[in-house]
Amino acid sequence: MRGKTHMIFGAASYWIIIAKIYPTPSSPIQLSILTGMFLSMITSVIPDFDLDFGIKHRGPTHSLLAILILALPLLILSYLSYWIIPITLSIFIGYTSHLLADFLTDRGVCFLWPSEKRYGICLWTYNTAWPWEGIFILICNIIVIYKFILFVSISL
Ligand SMILES: [Zn+2]
Repeated sequence: MRGKTHMIFGAASYWIIIAKIYPTPSSPIQLSILTGMFLSMITSVIPDFDLDFGIKHRGPTHSLLAILILALPLLILSYLSYWIIPITLSIFIGYTSHLLADFLTDRGVCFLWPSEKRYGICLWTYNTAWPWEGIFILICNIIVIYKFILFVSISL
């Protein structure tokens, strides 16, 4: 799965969850929510940094252990102030969305690393981006645009 697919899926996942948590966000938290959208896109590509560091691809960075290690400091940070919560959530959602998206490919991910067993359901193969990955990107774009317009209209 390509980086831009991960980014738009991260943003769509973020908006779906954040709209449930903050249906009518107050003004101090609106900036955090917008910042979170960009952070969810950035953090959605972090798991693939394993390729740059020579770590087993779709191994430790794509595991439940990585999610737990990430969640602990984010949970602690969330207690500092209420406006940080959309930020910490966006990082968590972005990262986790990457694992979920890779789960949808034929290669799967090592969720239970250090076990080498890969888990996944094959909606599309790694190299076959069209049409399924294209349709997936289109649906995610529609979600992001719709949720963003809704957020702006509620915020004004
Ligand atoms: Zn990946």
